[in-house]
Amino acid sequence: MANKGKIGVTTENIFPVIKQFLYSDHEIFLRELVANAVDATQKMKALAASGDCKEELGELQVHIELDEAAKTLKIIDNGIGMTEEEVDQYINQIAFSSAGEFLEKYKDQIQNIIGHFGLGFYSAFMVAKKVTIETLSWKADAKPVKWTCDGSPEYTMAACKKAERGTVVTLYLDDDSAEFAAKSRIEGLLGKYCKFMPVPIVFGKEQEWKDGKYVDTDKDKVINNTEPLWAKAPADLKDEDYKEFYRTLFPMNEEPLFWIHLNVDYPFNLTGILYFPKLKDRVAVERNKISLYCNQMFVTDHVDNIVPDFMTLLHGVIDSPDIPLNVSRSYLQSDAAVKKISAYITKKVADRLEGIFKEERKQLEEKWDNLKLFIEYGMLSDEKFCERALKFALFKNTDGKFFSLDEYKSAVETAQADKDKKLVYLYATNVQDQYAYIEAAKNKGYDVLLMDCELDSHYVNLLEQKLENTRFARVDSDAVENLIPKEEKIKPEMKEDERYDLENLFKAALPEGNDYYVTGENLGAGAAPLLITQNEFMRRYREMSALGGGMNFYGSMPESYNITVNLEHPLVEQILSGKPSGDVKSDEHKAELKTYADGCEVLHQITDLALLANGMLKGKALSDFIARSYSLIGK
Ligand code: ADP
Repeated sequence: MANKGKIGVTTENIFPVIKQFLYSDHEIFLRELVANAVDATQKMKALAASGDCKEELGELQVHIELDEAAKTLKIIDNGIGMTEEEVDQYINQIAFSSAGEFLEKYKDQIQNIIGHFGLGFYSAFMVAKKVTIETLSWKADAKPVKWTCDGSPEYTMAACKKAERGTVVTLYLDDDSAEFAAKSRIEGLLGKYCKFMPVPIVFGKEQEWKDGKYVDTDKDKVINNTEPLWAKAPADLKDEDYKEFYRTLFPMNEEPLFWIHLNVDYPFNLTGILYFPKLKDRVAVERNKISLYCNQMFVTDHVDNIVPDFMTLLHGVIDSPDIPLNVSRSYLQSDAAVKKISAYITKKVADRLEGIFKEERKQLEEKWDNLKLFIEYGMLSDEKFCERALKFALFKNTDGKFFSLDEYKSAVETAQADKDKKLVYLYATNVQDQYAYIEAAKNKGYDVLLMDCELDSHYVNLLEQKLENTRFARVDSDAVENLIPKEEKIKPEMKEDERYDLENLFKAALPEGNDYYVTGENLGAGAAPLLITQNEFMRRYREMSALGGGMNFYGSMPESYNITVNLEHPLVEQILSGKPSGDVKSDEHKAELKTYADGCEVLHQITDLALLANGMLKGKALSDFIARSYSLIGK
C-alpha cells in the first residue's frame, strides 16, 4: 500500500526557489547523482572487505540510461541500496531538510558559494519535474521500495518489484531542462564531472564502423578512467606516463616543462599532479587549468582561493577530500585546512624546483625562458616562495650564459663594484635595440644580463631589496663611463653661459614633446659625440606603472632623456666654436642661436645619429636625415 508523506521543508514549494538560485549550475545534478551511486558501490565494496556482507558482489558499476524521446534519465547502481526506513531517513528527512537549511543559510550569498557543493540527491529537482527512486537494500530481508516525488513537498512510498540489489534513480526531465535529454549533452557532462570517478560508469555502447556508418556493439561503453595517474604511486610511474596524462588533460597544449606529483596523507589528504607549462608572456597565459577533485570527483577548475595566485599558472589536478566545498569563497581563503594545503603546495613546488636546480641544471637552463615568468611572478607575489627561489632562480646574460644568483655575484664582483663598493648589475632588455650599449659595456669588461621578461622591471626592483649591496642599471641608462662610477666624477668646468647655449643648441635639434637634461662631459675624442640615455629609475617606474604597478604619477609624465654631450669630440668642438656669442639672456642672442642651430648640419647630423642609435628617429625626421646625409657625402 502506498504511503504518503510531506517532506520536511518549511517553504511550501522550495523547488522553484532553488531552480532560480542555482540557474547556472543546473548541470551539477548529474555529478551529484552519479557520486551517490558511486558511493553506494564503494560502500558495498567496504562491506564485502570487512566481511559484513558475504554474498557475491558482481561487477560494481554505475549505468546511465537516457531515453531521448521520453525525456527520462536513469542513474542505476548495484551498490548497497536502501531499505524503506533508510529512504525515509536519508531522503525524506535528512536530504530535504538539509537542503532547506542550506538555502536558508546561504540565500543572500548563494552566488558566492564555490559554485559546486553537495546539494546531493536534492539537486535532481533542478532539472526534473518528477523523480523516482527504486531501491533494494543489500540487507538479507530487505524489500524493494519505490519512492516518487513530483516536485512538490509531497512524496509517496510503495512496494515495488526490483529484483537486484541497488538503486535506480529516474528523472522525468522538466520541459525547461529538455537540453539534458540529448545524448551529446549527457556525454559532455560525464566527461566533465565523472571522467576519473573510481567505479566504472557506463553510458551507451561502444561503437564500430560497419557498412559505412557507426553502429552500436554489444560492449558497454565505460566513460571513465577509474585509476587516474595521480591516484597511483609515483614510484611506479615513468616520465612518459606523466606526459601522456598531460596530453589527455590538455590535448591542445605543448609538452609541459616539468611536473610534480603531490602525495600526502597526513596531516591532510592530498594527491595531484601539477605541470609547469611553457609560459611566454602573461597575456597568453591560460589560467584555471588546475582542476580540483574530491575523491576523483570533479569539483571545479577555479582553484584561485585554494592555491596562491601565481600557482594558478600551473596546469593539472589536485584531489583532496579535505577542502570544504559547501562554503563561500571568502570563507575558503580563511579556512585553516585550506591554508595548510596552500602552504604545502607552495613548499612542494619550491622543493621540486630546487631539486631540478641541483640535479637537472642543464634542463633547467634549457627550459628557463619558458619557466621564468612563473618563477618571477611567484617571487614577486609570495614572500615564502621568494625566499626559496633566491636559491634556484637563474640569470641569463646577453651571451646566453646562465648563472645562479650566487654564481653571478662571484662572477662580476671584481669588475663591477663601484667607488662605494656597491655591485652594479648591468642589464639589457633587448639585445638588438641596445646593441651598441651592450658592446660598449662588454668592451669595458662588464657583463650584461638579459632581462626581457615583461615582469622584469618589477623583478629588478625586488632583487635590489633582496640582494645585499647591489643595484641594477640598464646598459643604456648612462654613458658607459658612468654606469659603474669608479671614482668621483670631475665635471668639466663650464660657465653658466656656456651651459645655457649648449642646452639650447641641442634642444633645438631634438624632437619636441620630451624633457631633456643636457650636460657636457669629457668622454675623450674617441667616444661618441652625443649620447641619449634614460634615467634608470624614471624609466623603471614608468614601465612598472604601465604594467599596473600603481605608480601613475610616473606614467603620466612626459618621457625624459639625459643628453650627454662629449665636449672632447672634434665635431662638438666644431659646433661650439661656430656658435654666435653675446648676452645669453637677450632675445637677440636667443634668436641668433636658434638660427645657427637650424642651419648647423653637423649639429643635426650627430643628434640624429644618436637618436637613430636609440631607435628614436622616425617619420619625417628620418627622411630629412637621409636627405641630409646624401648632401653631406657630396660635399
Ligand atoms: P549526501 O550524499 O551528501 O549524504 P544526498 O542527499 O545526496 O546527500 O544523499 C543522502 C543519503 O541518501 C546518502 O548519504 C545515502 O545514504 C543515501 N543515498 C542517496 N543515493 C543513494 C544511492 N544511489 N544508493 C544508496 N544510498 C543512497
